[in-house]
Amino acid sequence: MRAGILTVGDELLAGDTVDTNGAWLAEQLTARGVTVERITTIPDRTETIAALVTEYSDRYDAVVVTGGLGPTHDDVTIAGVAAAFDRELRTDERALDWLETDGYSRGDLATGTADLPAESEPLHNETGVAPGCVVENVYVLPGVPGEMKAMFQTVADRFAGTVRHVEHVTVDEPESALIERFARLREQFGVKVGSYPGESVRVKLEHEDETVVREAVAWLEANAVVS
Ligand code: ATP
Ligand code: MG
Repeated sequence: MRAGILTVGDELLAGDTVDTNGAWLAEQLTARGVTVERITTIPDRTETIAALVTEYSDRYDAVVVTGGLGPTHDDVTIAGVAAAFDRELRTDERALDWLETDGYSRGDLATGTADLPAESEPLHNETGVAPGCVVENVYVLPGVPGEMKAMFQTVADRFAGTVRHVEHVTVDEPESALIERFARLREQFGVKVGSYPGESVRVKLEHEDETVVREAVAWLEANAVVS
């Protein structure tokens, strides 16, 4: 399964807020064996959201969108997703029922709080107000990290793929000295090799077969200065 992540918010693009949601979602999806192909941050602008949701929905098996829910003027994600699928916005009765169960009275809720694209599946916001939704292969979650995480857990089982085994090896040699050994690892073992230099080089070895990764780790440990 291949997925794209869209994080929505002018504050993310201004650098006011760091996009921790994208990283958290990527980690969760990767742990389930889903390949995350893109994490893209886009503004609170209906046309841009609609365009990217259309593109990613066509291109990937699943799309996770986070941020910009709710009825305030700068929250236009639901409208953007509705536009992407050419659907009207409708007040979702199931979402209103949940909110009543949570203690909100219909009259007190801001207009549009429970508006969702027609024929979408509402997702209950256990820790906040604004509901999320699923439209075809697009999952729309809140921006507040705690709300986003709780809502993702309710749909997490729908994301699945081949889980890849990962091992890290820390090498105390300059990265440039390791190029040929990285090539050998790829050719001989077929592992994916990631190289992340800092004070040492953190080498990430990845393969579907755990035994293959272990063999690659053993070879690298025998053929490099490891710490
Ligand atoms: P609400 O329903 O409460 O209005 P929302 O879905 O509209 O939530 P936003 O308005 O986009 O969410 O953002 C609410 C807050 O969540 C922001 O002030 C920011 O602190 C945080 N937030 C939003 N997006 C992200 C993100 N990608 N990473 C980390 N924090 C985020
Ligand atoms: Mg908001």
